[in-house]
This record gives sequence, structure tokens and C-alpha cells, in this order.
Amino acid sequence: MITRTTTGWQAEDWQFQLSRVVTSVKDLYQYLELPLDSLSSARLAQLDFPLKTPQSFLEKMKKGDFNDPLLLQVLPKQQELTLTPGFSYDPLAEASALKSRGLLHKYKNRVLVVLSGSCAINCRYCFRRHFPYQDNGLSQQEFEDISHYVTNTPQINEVILSGGDPLITSNKRLERFIHTLEKAPNLKRLRFHSRVPVVIPERIDEGLLRIIQSTRLKIILVTHSNHAQELDDVFSSTMQQLARIGVTLLNQSVLLKGVNDSALALSNLSEKLFSAGVLPYYLHLLDPVTGTSHFNVPETEGKLLIQQLLAELPGYLVPKLVKEEAGKTSKTPIPL
Ligand SMILES: *Cc1c(COP(=O)(O)O)cnc(C)c1O
Ligand code: SF4
Repeated sequence: MITRTTTGWQAEDWQFQLSRVVTSVKDLYQYLELPLDSLSSARLAQLDFPLKTPQSFLEKMKKGDFNDPLLLQVLPKQQELTLTPGFSYDPLAEASALKSRGLLHKYKNRVLVVLSGSCAINCRYCFRRHFPYQDNGLSQQEFEDISHYVTNTPQINEVILSGGDPLITSNKRLERFIHTLEKAPNLKRLRFHSRVPVVIPERIDEGLLRIIQSTRLKIILVTHSNHAQELDDVFSSTMQQLARIGVTLLNQSVLLKGVNDSALALSNLSEKLFSAGVLPYYLHLLDPVTGTSHFNVPETEGKLLIQQLLAELPGYLVPKLVKEEAGKTSKTPIPL
């Protein structure tokens, strides 16, 4: 059992916290004491991608502030309804990289598996906001199919679990999936990409730690945090527990207008991550997905920010600035 020091309440377990997600726009406005003028457009904007935020994430926001960097990431806005040239529904052409249900093979020696369709939080900038999530709850047979695909494709040495969010999956299913995957002799590494350790760090429970310790696969966790204000003491102690059992800890962020598009926000994030034992990995430019253009930060501005960070931080605390382009065999680094 973990005591959440910031609020004083005790979490039974992570499922309890997951059940406390806020999905009503009105509840969000009322809790944060926001003026109600924009309530109806917020309601409209969430019709095809609903509001969803854990209570604990809400508690980290400043009341009465529409510009709070955490609130901006979850609050549905009228701007999402405008169509912007250059922004489309599937800019990464992921639909065409699907090898079997839930399996994406775009990069040479690593495959991406979508284990779960849902997330603990719905981020407004999400590049998968139009993804057919519901299609993706994998069966044991589909686990086997993925394991065979890996075995039959000898150059694959890493499986990446992405989302939805792979840590929404129960320990029981995760354990079964890992056991199935381990049968592929060429597989060396298993990487989790997840925002759950940021928003509900209690998810990394005893059972999950035991699963991680008992696999032969090298485990990597890439957390998805965009702002230092998201990270609390529970996050830090959880990351330290993972580090002790040999998990490699990295973080990736998306560069988001109003949220983290300043050298100060980014360097605070890097410092806070490092003090929890996590190294910054990628800073992604926004994928041009319909409904997200108000988060866009131009590439030239991204480069300037990285140059400022290089002047302020040791090199290992400066994330790599990248973007994703359809049909490429890796992410594209942005030259400074
Ligand atoms: C980002 C991504 C990866 C992993 O890329 P790394 O550069 O190894 O982090 C793998 N597959 C897909 C489809 C991706 O989008
Ligand atoms: S996939 Fe990641 S960015 Fe998208 S909604 Fe889920 S947690 Fe947020």
C-alpha cells in the first residue's frame, strides 16, 4: 500500500485510481473552479475523443488557470474542431504497417505491439486519437501469432509495447504475453512505452516488479512525461525501485505549445527526470494529426530550444529532437 503524500489519501491499488478517472467536462470545470463560458464548446470537442484524466493528475493542476500546463493536455477545446491544411487523420500511414492484429513492423529490428486499446488519460495532442482502439484487445492466439512472427523474422531483437497504454493491461495478461514472447530465441529486449508511470505510478506494483525480475528479457521503460509538474515523489520512488532491479529508464516528450515550449520548462523537466533516475530520450515534434494543430511548435523554434538547452545542461540531459515521417525506417533527427 502506498501513501500519496501530496494529498494524504491512501491508494488501495492502481485499479482503484483508474476507476477514479474524471470523464465529465463539467466536473473538471467545477473542481478547477473555471469560468463556465467555454463549457459547451469543450463538451462538443470531446464527442469523438472523450475527456479522461485521473483524479491524481487533476490534483496537480493549479485551480482557476486555463493555461496550466497539465490542464492544457487534457482539456477538450473548440480549436480541435477546425481542419488545418497539412493535418490529417493518419499522417504516419500506420494503417499500412499492420502485420497482424496489434503488430506494427516499420523499423528493421524492432516491432511495435499495441497490447491494449485504452489509456489512463486521454491526451488531446495524441497521434492515435483517431486510431481504431477498440479493435485491439489481443487474444492468446494473437499473442502466439506475434511470437511466431518474431521467431520467423530473425533480425527482430526488440519488442516495443505501446499504446493505447501497455500498462493498462493486468499483470496476469502481461505475464502470459511475456512468457509467449520469450519463446522467440532472437528476442533480447522488451520495451514499454507508457504514460501510466507518470500519471498513476502506483501501477508499478509488487506483481509487476516480480514479472520484470523473472523474465530473461532486458526491460526498458520509456516514460512519457511532458512537464516537471507531472512528476511527484511517488514517481521518483517508483523509478528508483525499477532502477534497482536493472530496468533502463528513459523519457520521451512531445513539444507542445503552451505546455513545454520554453527552455525553462524543458530544463526543469530534464532535471526532475534525472533526480528520479530517468534520462531524457526524445523530444518529438507534434505529429500533424487532425484536431491537434493548436499544439504545434514550428521546427525552427524546436531547434532554438535545443540550442538553449545545450548551453544550460550537460549533454546527457538534452533530449534528441525528432519527428516521425510516414514510410521512414526510423524517426528523423532534426539537424540543429
Ligand atoms: C518510434 C517507433 C519505434 C521505436 O523507435 P526508436 O527510435 O527505437 O525509439 C518502433 N516502431 C515504431 C512504429 C515507432 O513509431
Ligand atoms: S497513447 Fe499516450 S499520448 Fe495518446 S492518449 Fe494514450 S497516454 Fe496519451
